[in-house]
Amino acid sequence: MKTAEEYVESLKDLNREVYILGERVEDFVEHPILRPSLNALAMTYQLAWEPDHEELMVRQDGKGRKVNLFTSIHEGTDDLINKVQALRLLGQTTGTCFQRCVGWDALNTLSIVTYEMDAALSTDYQKRFLDYLSYVQEHDLVCNGAMTDVKGDRNRRPHEQEDLDLYLRVIERRDDGILVRGAKAHQTGSVFSHEIIVMPTLAMRAEEKDYAIAFAIPSDSPGVLHILGRQSSDTRKLEGVSIDLGNANFGAHEALVIFDDVFVPRERIFMDGEVEFSGRLVETFAAYHRQSYGGCKAGVGDVLIGAAASAAEFNGVARASHIRRKIAEMVHLNETLYSCGLACSLCGNAEASGTYLVDVLLANVCKQNVTRLPYEIARLAEDIAGGLMVTMPSEKDLRNPKVGHYIDKYLRASSTSSTEDRMRILRLIESMTMGTGAVAYRSESMHGAGSPEAQVIMIERQTDLEHKMSLAKDLAGIGR
Ligand code: SF4
Ligand code: FE
Repeated sequence: MKTAEEYVESLKDLNREVYILGERVEDFVEHPILRPSLNALAMTYQLAWEPDHEELMVRQDGKGRKVNLFTSIHEGTDDLINKVQALRLLGQTTGTCFQRCVGWDALNTLSIVTYEMDAALSTDYQKRFLDYLSYVQEHDLVCNGAMTDVKGDRNRRPHEQEDLDLYLRVIERRDDGILVRGAKAHQTGSVFSHEIIVMPTLAMRAEEKDYAIAFAIPSDSPGVLHILGRQSSDTRKLEGVSIDLGNANFGAHEALVIFDDVFVPRERIFMDGEVEFSGRLVETFAAYHRQSYGGCKAGVGDVLIGAAASAAEFNGVARASHIRRKIAEMVHLNETLYSCGLACSLCGNAEASGTYLVDVLLANVCKQNVTRLPYEIARLAEDIAGGLMVTMPSEKDLRNPKVGHYIDKYLRASSTSSTEDRMRILRLIESMTMGTGAVAYRSESMHGAGSPEAQVIMIERQTDLEHKMSLAKDLAGIGR
């Protein structure tokens, strides 16, 4: 297992192409816009070395060697439950998305689907995958899970698009591998990942074999470009301030990742044209990642609840009955998310490969709640914070010798807290609800692991409505 320091060092050897605000950035490890994101990812390494967290954060590989949790395969419902608990801990520690779960969910998905493809089609994908898994475990790598294609005209299938590259596809087959072209959007943590695991974005049809493709490549492979996504208030990180950032140490990033005719060697290909398994892969991955959100978002929610309660304390209203009721409501909503994450884990089952998968219906219910409840938690936090959160002057004004003392005097609230502390907690709430952190807590809750409608489709598909109707009809005395 790598330490956090070894992880950061390992990134410096990678020769990747990263663009931020219109410029290619060579030193992406130290870039102020990206560094908080690296710090959050590094916590997945750091906690694995802390004795208090070893039980949650360390697992064993097939040979009994210690591996980081984020490279492990789920061997029971205990592992699935442990996952949700670990993600909550990391959400609490970083207050944001720590970006390592997508690749982990991709590994578990491939362990299931490669086995099933081999059983049905006599392919050798499982062996390729297991070799790859050992490599990832031995070097303790971060894998970026790349699923979402840019999709072009939503009314057209991949092979019907005017531009055939709008879904990532094979453009050439060679004896030793394939050449791929396309782009994956919203790639969480891509810049700080060692590897990219590409998967199809939807169930492909017979005429879409070139799009039914799964593989893994190093993230600095020739032809791979990372173009960083903007986040609201991101350039505050260039101002040399800390209060105004709210969560100065931790953050997350997404990138548009371009695959400009990238070579993939044969041994790194885990699906190539088996369209009949592409839907199984997508749904399995989605179920795992919809479970993940019941852990990480609950952890981030804990921070936001704590921030709202602190703001109330600094304002001197912590004991007011309506504040206490609102805090209790936030806790109730947040624990609902966690309960869903735990429930789909507890009801998980072993698939044919032996890997445990969550209960798919409950995982989709989990994520459907995640598309809604954090918004209400954020609304309550804003309610408690008050308008000053969005109208108060900047940190530089507070430090200004001419006007700083006015800010200190007039923005003080409770006599037991400082103006600066009050500003810090309000900025934290601002960042989590409408600044850089809102990407992870709000929009990602809505669209990450699939937008709300994707869960509705799965909930409908997983529900035995006939059974429910027969229960009702029996009790009502119909058809006796
Ligand atoms: Fe992990 Fe949550 Fe971020 Fe997804 S949104 S990568 S589950 S922390
Ligand atoms: Fe996500």
